[in-house]
Amino acid sequence: MKSKNPFHLLIQLIFPSRCVICRALTEGEADLCPDCADKLEKTGSHALQSIPFCDGCYSPYYYREPLRASFHRYKFKGYLQYAHTYGRWMAECLTEQGATQFDFITWAPLSRRRKFQRRYDQAEELAREIGRMLHLPVRPTLHKAHRPPLSRMEGDRSARMAALLGAYSLRRDAVVMGQRVLLVDDIVTSGSTLSECARVLRTAGAHTVTCVTLARRHGPHAAGKKTDDQT
Ligand SMILES: [Zn+2]
Repeated sequence: MKSKNPFHLLIQLIFPSRCVICRALTEGEADLCPDCADKLEKTGSHALQSIPFCDGCYSPYYYREPLRASFHRYKFKGYLQYAHTYGRWMAECLTEQGATQFDFITWAPLSRRRKFQRRYDQAEELAREIGRMLHLPVRPTLHKAHRPPLSRMEGDRSARMAALLGAYSLRRDAVVMGQRVLLVDDIVTSGSTLSECARVLRTAGAHTVTCVTLARRHGPHAAGKKTDDQT
């Protein structure tokens, strides 16, 4: 229980806290119940994986149930408030791993059409939350061209990377020369999306591009299978 402020208590009565995973009511302002905390699969010593063009990619969790169902509510059902919890987990992962030296935060964006349809960009919301937690500026740097969803495409990492070539471009107002960039996305699968975004940022002169995602789909030694991420 963080606060005894009457206003906070009133808010707690009207909007009681729920677990982001099972949606059960929780004690005080907790956003995760103890049962679900036990069930989530932490990456632990495998939080960091390598991805081409990136200076490492950190993910606090594996993308498995019960996190998967929670994330689907966030990405597709408008449960935008989960960004607060997810962003905190991601920021905590970076802090635990000692990866906090960045000039600014950016994200792998949706295309304008997709963002219009969904009304929000789930990676941007995570980036803004991490920015608040780590006291870092958050800036848009990339555009995504509208393409058919990757879920319809088969192929290994190199096929996916080839398909993504040119999908992302630098915004005209982006200043990345010499900057240490933290690139945010929601889930990493093959790494092809983050790799392509990092390639564009590095080509524009970014000093380093480090990635962080809420979860990674694959274990430490299995990457590059078919997927349904980032659409
Ligand atoms: Zn729960």
